[in-house]
Amino acid sequence: MIIDKVLENNQNFVENFEGEELGHLPKMNLCIVTCMDTRLTNFLEPALGIDREDAKIIRNAGNTIVGEDVIRSVAAAVYSLGCEEVMVIGHTNCGMKNANVDKIKSSMIEKGVPEEEINKVDLSKWIGSIEDEEINVIETVKKIKEHPLIADGIIVHGLIVDIVTGELKVLVKG
Ligand SMILES: [Zn+2]
Repeated sequence: MIIDKVLENNQNFVENFEGEELGHLPKMNLCIVTCMDTRLTNFLEPALGIDREDAKIIRNAGNTIVGEDVIRSVAAAVYSLGCEEVMVIGHTNCGMKNANVDKIKSSMIEKGVPEEEINKVDLSKWIGSIEDEEINVIETVKKIKEHPLIADGIIVHGLIVDIVTGELKVLVKG
């Protein structure tokens, strides 16, 4: 199982790491909402010049807002942890662009999810399929800013990072 490999890796890590106690408050007062894409790991942070302790990073499939969970985390970052600016950062070539809903549905059925349960939701919306990475960032910024629990003065930017070069493009300057 994958967990066995991870636990072995962890033993090696702990043996070679001295350990350091850091604070949980974000030193740059920055909150980032971005994608769960594997290519962003250890890539987005250096591309932005941020290190451990610097920012709160919320990741999900396609940096979209479906339901309340992203808002909840942004609210915690802002009201409880002192974040002053929020950045929604999408990326080029996102896997959630035109996510194959038929494939997801058949995989769910194959794994035993009752079809009547799947049919209760608009699967494309529920899974957060997006049509365009840039429009999606702009929509996510809008949803955060317009949420009744997010105060008017909270600054929310929207950006896209090039998944190959790491270059940032500003779409919305909050
Ligand atoms: Zn993505």
